Amino acid sequence: MRIDAVRSLLGIIILTIPLNPQAIDVYKRPVQVERSRDFDFIHYLIRLDIDIAGKSFNGRMTATLRPLRDGLEKVILDAEEFTVREVRDESGEALAFEQAPGRLTVKLPRAFRHDEKFSVTVGYDGRDPKKGLRFYEASAERPAMAASDSWPYGVRHWFPGYDYPNDKATSEIIATVAAGNKVVANGRLISVKENEDAATVTFHWLQDKPHSTYLIFLAAAPYEVVEDRFGAVPVNYWVYARHAADARRTYGKTPEMMAYFGALFGYDYPWDKYDQVEVPFGGGAESTSATAMGERVIVDERAEIDFPSLGIVSHELAHQWWGDLVTLRTWSEAWINESFATYSDYLYFEHALGPDEGAVNLLNKKTAYLREARERYIRPIVFDRYEGPSDLFDSHSYPKGALVLHMLRFILGDDAFFRTLSAFLHDYDFDVADTHDFKRTVKTVTGQNLDWFFDQWLYKPGHPVFDASSEWDQTAGLLRLRVRQVQDRSRGIPVYRTPARISVTDESGKRIHEVWIEDEDEAFEFPASGRPLLVRFDDGHILLKELTFPKSASELLFQLQKDDVIGRMEAASSLAGLAKVSGVEEALMKAAERDPFWAVREAALQALGQAKEKSLIPFLKKRCADPHSRPRAAALSALGELREPGIAAFLIERFRKEPGYLAQAEALKALGKTGSRAAKSFLKEAEGMPSFRNIIRDAARQALKDLSSE
Ligand SMILES: [Zn+2]
Repeated sequence: MRIDAVRSLLGIIILTIPLNPQAIDVYKRPVQVERSRDFDFIHYLIRLDIDIAGKSFNGRMTATLRPLRDGLEKVILDAEEFTVREVRDESGEALAFEQAPGRLTVKLPRAFRHDEKFSVTVGYDGRDPKKGLRFYEASAERPAMAASDSWPYGVRHWFPGYDYPNDKATSEIIATVAAGNKVVANGRLISVKENEDAATVTFHWLQDKPHSTYLIFLAAAPYEVVEDRFGAVPVNYWVYARHAADARRTYGKTPEMMAYFGALFGYDYPWDKYDQVEVPFGGGAESTSATAMGERVIVDERAEIDFPSLGIVSHELAHQWWGDLVTLRTWSEAWINESFATYSDYLYFEHALGPDEGAVNLLNKKTAYLREARERYIRPIVFDRYEGPSDLFDSHSYPKGALVLHMLRFILGDDAFFRTLSAFLHDYDFDVADTHDFKRTVKTVTGQNLDWFFDQWLYKPGHPVFDASSEWDQTAGLLRLRVRQVQDRSRGIPVYRTPARISVTDESGKRIHEVWIEDEDEAFEFPASGRPLLVRFDDGHILLKELTFPKSASELLFQLQKDDVIGRMEAASSLAGLAKVSGVEEALMKAAERDPFWAVREAALQALGQAKEKSLIPFLKKRCADPHSRPRAAALSALGELREPGIAAFLIERFRKEPGYLAQAEALKALGKTGSRAAKSFLKEAEGMPSFRNIIRDAARQALKDLSSE
């Protein structure tokens, strides 16, 4: 991924872009078009001498090119920051060149025809570039090192080239660094040579399968390499020495994921090896056969409880197919990379942890998109208005697109859906693709014209907002369901057409009816001789939607006990406002204590917490011993909201016993709300404790602030 996403336990993407409460008018952004070119890059041979301590490099890049038209007399390459010394042709003749901001123009010795191939070699010097190749000094966190950050237009800061994704070429990196360092790059390792000066070592890497420039990667550091394998494919984890013991915990599932994705996509892992490489910045950034993983991804034993690396590791691995093998033709097609990778991480989650965890993963994706839609903007997923590519790497390209793929799977069925994915990979492997290509593959494989589906979900903004109501007609033995689409259509949001599953549960069991929603206002009738205990619109939670569907307290109480995980969570939330109704508090307490799935226990505790009843203190204290950390955190948070000085000692004790950082942080935040003077010295102490991503320090600071404002 690109916006340096790190996944929390929930799988919610934490963006480095701050949320803007003001709605953003994305239509004011400039229209961007795919770049034209008049030559085809065939191969990059990049020789680099990297002085990590001096933060500088000198390079010699040999470009092999083929004109795409006759009469090519000059080539214009993207080049930023470094200084070009010389340009030579194949025979070593110096060529005239001109370096201007952002580009290098090379005058060719003669005009070349479209069927000719030629090469030019550019010699250049760079020093601590602002982008592209980042240098780091040694610190307590990391050794002195250099690592590329090529996305989206980074390579032009460390070698000249055609730096736009719509052209693919093979690449070769021959990098010399001070002895003691290791260099990792794309493709396979050809050689490692200790040089005669004994002070330097040269690594030669070759990626002989074509890829786009933003996927060209290099990192140099005194890495520890923890070796793993997937069949004949080397799978290595490149980490700082201090993280050697954490590498397998963080990445150890990778070979199993490679087997799963290869079989699921009907396309074996496409590259010579797979490396995951620790770098100082970001979350994960994929490149062919190598993924840069930020320091924040590495989990220690305690962080694994709440922040397992499963989501980001599977997401980045999925990019080896979605993004690296088949690559977006232009940035407006970002979903070709990100939606497919995001849907893949859900698929692995469900496969590895089961359908309930899968359902919660999908719910969190939905929540992330709806938050962006409400707080920031809506836009079509395929969208050509942006200042820079990062504008498009948002919750539309990631979770919304993943949910669109989930709906496509529902419409096509599993067999046709996965055959389509496989065909798309085989049709466009080592090439670029866009939405039209995908639509064509869907038609070829399934025979179905789903233009209407792509039109409403990819080319138009927004999502349906359903208002549903039902009525049981005892005399007629019918259940009448009315479904209206009430979304504000002023911004180009359509009336949606979609299949939907309606379930009706009565004493005799549950029946599912499949219907098509076509119009703004739809009415359906289903046979129902007995009084329905629960009616569900969109059973299975397939649709990306908002829904209001009023339910009686008795229906919600039934749902809290009997529905699937998402339904039970929804029932718990809906019951939060009904705590005074007879039986509701008892039912929520029972769910908080006994529901087999942690997310329902958490939702029930959150609902109970809203009542802010001091009589719940003994119950909430007990729930702080839940086997799962999330309900424990919810119980601690609910206790905090009671603002009761008398529980400060209990919260401190919970902090000391708690194995996970997340619930520990909740204990501290709750402590800040107690107003207890005694809490202050403890919070001061906690502020100095080391923790994963400084969770404990940040929670202690917030608590101290709360305490002083009491
Ligand atoms: Zn991604």
